[in-house]
Amino acid sequence: MNIHEYQGKEVLRQYGVATPRGFVCRSPDEAADAASRIGGRAWVVKAQIHAGGRGKGGGVKPAWSVDEVRRHAGQMLGMTLKTPQTGPEGRVVRQLLVEESVEIDKELYLGFVVDRNSQRVALMASSEGGMDIEEVAARTPEKIHKLFIDPDAGLRIADVDGMARRIGITERSLVQARVLMQNLYQAFDGSDASLAEINPLVLTRDNRVIALDAKFDFDANALFRQPEIAAMRDTDEEDPIEVEASKFDLSYIALDGDIGCLVNGAGLAMATMDAIKLYGGAPANFLDVGGGATPQKVTEAFKLMLRNPKLKAVLVNIFGGIMKCDVIAHGVVAAARETGLAVPLVVRMKGTNEDLGRTILAQSGLAIINTDDIAEAAQRAIGAASNWERQR
Ligand code: GDP
Ligand code: MN
Repeated sequence: MNIHEYQGKEVLRQYGVATPRGFVCRSPDEAADAASRIGGRAWVVKAQIHAGGRGKGGGVKPAWSVDEVRRHAGQMLGMTLKTPQTGPEGRVVRQLLVEESVEIDKELYLGFVVDRNSQRVALMASSEGGMDIEEVAARTPEKIHKLFIDPDAGLRIADVDGMARRIGITERSLVQARVLMQNLYQAFDGSDASLAEINPLVLTRDNRVIALDAKFDFDANALFRQPEIAAMRDTDEEDPIEVEASKFDLSYIALDGDIGCLVNGAGLAMATMDAIKLYGGAPANFLDVGGGATPQKVTEAFKLMLRNPKLKAVLVNIFGGIMKCDVIAHGVVAAARETGLAVPLVVRMKGTNEDLGRTILAQSGLAIINTDDIAEAAQRAIGAASNWERQR
């Protein structure tokens, strides 16, 4: 789960990581108010969306008067911000962060991430922080330093100091940088994050070390013990179909293809998508209805899938274990009728009561392509999708 920068900075402050003073705002008046409360002579107005690259897309603007803060706020709120990370459709800006402006001497990069290869938390840092970090990673990966943390030993002072020196922190700022890195590690660990990234981490002209940006990603499986983090969820920033799916306890993930998949069990769902890919197709979604899906749940799952305008065929792949095939068949038929299913439907059912299930599908009078085998099911779904497109 992602959160906004302003929320990330709240988490950072709780763990003692230095950030600029700032307030979240939802109107130009609030923004002007925030600037007055912060005081000083310069501010930065920052669009809050769950995507980076805002600096490059016009989502980070400096202001030198309260009036200018108000003007920027008026212009940014409600705009569709397009950045290299939002895709061409962009994101609507609903909130802003108004902050004190910081005089930057140097922009660095700092991040903690779960590294799957080493099965450890990796600290990544670079002297080349700022808006072009992706380019640095691609062109000069040696400028991104990595440290894999032994979970028992934790983050050792010698290692942290070594890293700080490698990214150009001078001796006079060393202790500040050390404390910041240790606190960021505590924040990462304590909030069950899978990513805690600060880009840029800045050295200011007056020798302070401050987190100017904050990006967090949290392990969704740990949210049950992180109620404060879970409350930061902003469903406006998520795919509407995914949000709806989570209400029905369905795990749905939108993908780019055109073949809708409705499967019970995450492993079988992955295998189904692999089969579609193997035969040259592309899944429109991952959808696991779970082991104990009821006909109602199947109907809801169908409805969700059909909200995707790119859909050209649906592939239902069910293993009847705890769930019986005849129950699923009733659900599939009901859902197809209720939704007025227009695209071709391929069903593969195996397991408990599969014969009964097949009879129900056959007797429904619906044009369902029934198959026995996963490879054939994938191929027929791909064929049906391209036929359907041609006939449209
Ligand atoms: P991102 O582009 O979405 O990652 O947004 P950031 O929060 O990283 O801001 C982008 C850039 O804006 C930073 O790399 C800085 O160069 C600049 N910036 C942000 N806040 C300040 C500030 O307070 N003072 C100055 N001078 N520049 C800032
Ligand atoms: Mn940034």
